Amino acid sequence: MQATSKSRCPLPFAGSGSPRKSLPRTSKQILDPPELGAPLTTLRGVGPATAREAEKLGLTTLGDLLYHFPYRHEDFTSSRKVGELRWGEEATIAVRLESIMLKPTRRRNLRLVVATVGDESGFIEAIWYNQDYLVEQLRAGDRLLLRGRYDGAGRNFRVTGHELMGRGEGVGEGEGKGRGRDEGRGKGGAPARRGGAEAQPGLHTTGFVPVYHTTEKISVKRLRSWLGAVRHLAARLSDPLPSLLRARMSLPFKADAVLAMHFPRTPGEFKAARRRLIFEELYLMQLGLLSRRRRYIEGRRGLELGPEGELCRRFLEGLPFRLTPDQERVIAEISKDLERWQPMQRLLQGDVGSGKTVVALYTLLRAVENGAQAALMAPTEVLAEQHFLSLERMLAGLGVRTALLSSRHTAAERQEVLAAVAAGEVDLVTGTHALIQEDVAFRKLGVVVVDEQHRFGVDQREELAEKATATGITPHVLHMTATPIPRTLALTLYGDLAVSSIEQMPPGRRETVTRLVPEDKRPLAYDFIRRQLDRGRQCFVVCPLIEESQAIEARAVAEEAERLAAGELKGYRLAVLHGQMSSREKQQVMESFKSGETQVLVSTTVIEVGVDVPNATIMMVEEADRFGLAQLHQLRGRVGRGEHKSYCLLFGEGVTDQARSRLEAMAETADGFLLADRDLEIRGEGQLFGLRQSGLPDLRLARITRDRKLLEQARAHAAELIESDPELQRPENALLRDQVERLFGDSIDWLRKV
Ligand code: ADP
Ligand code: MG
Repeated sequence: MQATSKSRCPLPFAGSGSPRKSLPRTSKQILDPPELGAPLTTLRGVGPATAREAEKLGLTTLGDLLYHFPYRHEDFTSSRKVGELRWGEEATIAVRLESIMLKPTRRRNLRLVVATVGDESGFIEAIWYNQDYLVEQLRAGDRLLLRGRYDGAGRNFRVTGHELMGRGEGVGEGEGKGRGRDEGRGKGGAPARRGGAEAQPGLHTTGFVPVYHTTEKISVKRLRSWLGAVRHLAARLSDPLPSLLRARMSLPFKADAVLAMHFPRTPGEFKAARRRLIFEELYLMQLGLLSRRRRYIEGRRGLELGPEGELCRRFLEGLPFRLTPDQERVIAEISKDLERWQPMQRLLQGDVGSGKTVVALYTLLRAVENGAQAALMAPTEVLAEQHFLSLERMLAGLGVRTALLSSRHTAAERQEVLAAVAAGEVDLVTGTHALIQEDVAFRKLGVVVVDEQHRFGVDQREELAEKATATGITPHVLHMTATPIPRTLALTLYGDLAVSSIEQMPPGRRETVTRLVPEDKRPLAYDFIRRQLDRGRQCFVVCPLIEESQAIEARAVAEEAERLAAGELKGYRLAVLHGQMSSREKQQVMESFKSGETQVLVSTTVIEVGVDVPNATIMMVEEADRFGLAQLHQLRGRVGRGEHKSYCLLFGEGVTDQARSRLEAMAETADGFLLADRDLEIRGEGQLFGLRQSGLPDLRLARITRDRKLLEQARAHAAELIESDPELQRPENALLRDQVERLFGDSIDWLRKV
């Protein structure tokens, strides 16, 4: 009954530490036809040069060819007998050429090629405009498929496309450029669904004709004929989707879907095919992600925390405000995770100012009141220090023992902190990712909050897990991000995390006024800034993003500050902040800005995250068109944090339409989730979030924004399957498992490691 698998990639589904089980296979299992791996040169007439050219299209094997889908189809349906042609109708006719001639007209630029063509039902005149060469190319006796319209003044057939189906007598080479000897002929094989692959009649002029991306040297006709030659292979594709799922989702077979992607009989058939393949893509991806999440949980144990206790209650009661419904909901979601033995892996997303800090502190305190330790990790030293300060303030009087692990400490101070952490004399440690990377030993680490998850790569997430394993328990982890990600994208990008969102802002928040400032209004903008400064407010000036080098960026910042100090903002107190400064210098600058001593902070995007200066009311961004929406939104979030009305002034009109529409979106809405959606639409998911970098396989057909609904369905079905067959061990799921492995192929380590 069982056949063992050939040697293949390591199995991602084997439980960590457990010996790899070999994949059970049933004898019934259908494998993809081996010919799919054959090089293109196996096609008749395709030599090494053509094969190299085809690589530009990503085509090396016959299998690649099958998956080289057309980007549109031309509708050549409605084929007719000559005798049946109706006036004014566009149609395809299969005819024999009787005679052909060039016919000058009185108009200077118009020459007609006129041919008499016919079939058993009658004859008609076919005309081409200005295609004199046809007279040389076509001969009496040729069999042609003509596409065109029967409505010419002389009741003739105006040809819009033709295809030579067979030659008459006395015919020489070829039909012209772009069409060689190697006009693809199927080399036997199973007959295709409609007609044999052998002669490929009507490949270019009947039905829905696929139109492919091409190269200079590989024409669309050539691609079409290659596809015609391999279409019989499509019919033998195995189907990884379980039949029950296929039935529930009303999806066609894979073989039919792939074929219909190229040669659909109806538009409906094409749509169903595409839906099927998109679903498969999303489903496989979700299976990979969910199994990864499951394995993370399975191999580890977290602390089962008791219900909310005294400490948390006092913390909440001590807050000067009531939690928003979103905060309450999110806290409930987190609580549920904390009370389970499985370590939490949750993403908390919420716009800048949405009140994530309270939720984070609450989460940390849940560990503390259970006698465990908690850690708060920030992406930078500056932020860690800021977090530490505000956390000390918010926890005042609660008796929580806190510590900051900072590079500003002397070696001796650092040793002291480390010792206290190891001895369990510290409840709550704040620091950068140095917390998990270095010699920090916790006595009992129960909960970790990681601020700004998007700066925290997969690698670091893993280190975090490793770190914790040394102590026997895996901490519950809450990743926080202020870069809202549309839920659907979160499902993909963080498909291995549970996601909580705070979408609603705390009450009383005033929207920051956002304006695109044209260059000629610049003086007015400085007027406005000066008035605000005179009223005691403060201002950020963000200099253009310079990707090449931090050093150049630092210089640009210094120069801009000098320029302003000598010009428009003369007499005001300016300071600079950039990534080349030591964290000590940065800290000093921030403190001076916070205290109000510095009025204008000229900066790079260092200030993007977390900086909290309620008195700052102006965010001025130079060359804003060079920033992404998410980043601009972050920058804008630096103001509007206090009682004063705030302004975000965007300079740089943007050279491209895309840049412009991004900036306009900024001015239109303050909703970070909406902006994230817009960014996604404008720039596309791949570019924006670097799916590749995140170790996820590419999506070929699916577009997360467009295919939301399918993604949700794929997610739900994948979750159901992983629930019932966690390692896809059941024979009927073997193919599926195979495909997931293949899909996650080059990132298989990533999949296996956690
Ligand atoms: P985030 O970290 O999500 O950017 P914060 O947690 O720093 O936002 O909250 C921003 C501001 O809103 C803080 O000053 C905080 O005290 C305040 N805040 C948080 N929650 C509420 C609430 N429910 N009602 C009123 N103000 C709140
Ligand atoms: Mg925050």
